[in-house]
Amino acid sequence: MLQIRDNVPLAPLTTFGIGGDAMHFVDVQTEADLREAVSLAKEKGVPFVVLAGGSNVLVPDGGLDALVAHIVPGEHRFEGKRLAADAGCNLLALIREAAGLGLGGWEKLAGIPGSIGGAIRGNAGAFGTEITDVATRVSAFNSVTGDSRDFTNGDCDFSYRHSFFKDNPEWIITKVALELHEVTPDESARLIEETIQERERRHLQNVRAAGSFFMNPVAPTGIVEMFESEKGVKARESRVPAGWLIEKAGLKGHRVGDAIASEQHPNYLVNAGEASAHDVGNLAQLIKLEVFAQFGVELQEEAALL
Ligand SMILES: Cc1cc2nc3c(=O)[nH]c(=O)nc-3n(C[C@H](O)[C@H](O)[C@H](O)COP(=O)(O)OP(=O)(O)OC[C@H]3O[C@@H](n4cnc5c(N)ncnc54)[C@H](O)[C@@H]3O)c2cc1C
Repeated sequence: MLQIRDNVPLAPLTTFGIGGDAMHFVDVQTEADLREAVSLAKEKGVPFVVLAGGSNVLVPDGGLDALVAHIVPGEHRFEGKRLAADAGCNLLALIREAAGLGLGGWEKLAGIPGSIGGAIRGNAGAFGTEITDVATRVSAFNSVTGDSRDFTNGDCDFSYRHSFFKDNPEWIITKVALELHEVTPDESARLIEETIQERERRHLQNVRAAGSFFMNPVAPTGIVEMFESEKGVKARESRVPAGWLIEKAGLKGHRVGDAIASEQHPNYLVNAGEASAHDVGNLAQLIKLEVFAQFGVELQEEAALL
């Protein structure tokens, strides 16, 4: 039986540290818990919202008149080169434990905050590695119809920061199966620490933000060429970094209330004090308008606006 709580502050459960209360709130681990949470939301006549690591969300200042199912770390099991983990398991903890067992291939994802389920939903990636590279099966259930289904990697329709689950939010990821590579534990541990240090060096860690606020957009040829000649690197899939566009638009360091487009990473919208969701929303809107006006490029949010 789930413990339901009312008026639970959500800000402390997010890396932004922003947002109001959940009208109803439950911690969940398993598919059975999630199904019970869906029934509770129906009983109460409120929407059902999923929150996991809270590292890619912006919660409104007025909170959510909803039942928030907070997916917390559950169980995981290694078998040969395979790992099966409940959706709420922490990604970094799994990467570290796998390394100790001589299993890797995903060390460059080390330092991405949040859960393995959240990573699957957004096909989380860094430094050329994405979770799709190791994911083999995803179990999910449909919170509207109640159907359960196992998805192969192909069924998940992964691409840059995208999966089937992003387009179909009624499907809730409950378990993830991965196939890892045999590695030397010491070498894997070294790669993990190097990756985290590199993220710290680039000021990508421990910031009150939701990571990259916008996805890197596909840009017109002229803009791609400008980026390539300026930076001396090839744009992948004709995408240019949103942070580069924000800087070019003159908005690096721009501030609305306590929300700032980071000096180090303009695509990180940072809570520099007491920022509200309203401040972040206004800053994001201003950035979108300015980038479109100057470059004809439409930025799309990567962070989920709950
Ligand atoms: C400092 C910092 C650095 C970051 N760096 C990176 C990076 O390098 N690369 C990268 O890709 N991302 C990065 N991110 C973004 C974020 O960490 C990832 O998107 C992460 O995978 C989100 O997982 P989460 O558990 O925190 O999801 P949450 O923030 O809790 O949720 C995000 C969305 O996913 C949904 N969701 C969560 N769990 C499930 C589930 N089980 N089933 C269905 N829907 C679900 C939620 O409803 C919400 O819409 C960074 C974030 C921060 C704060």
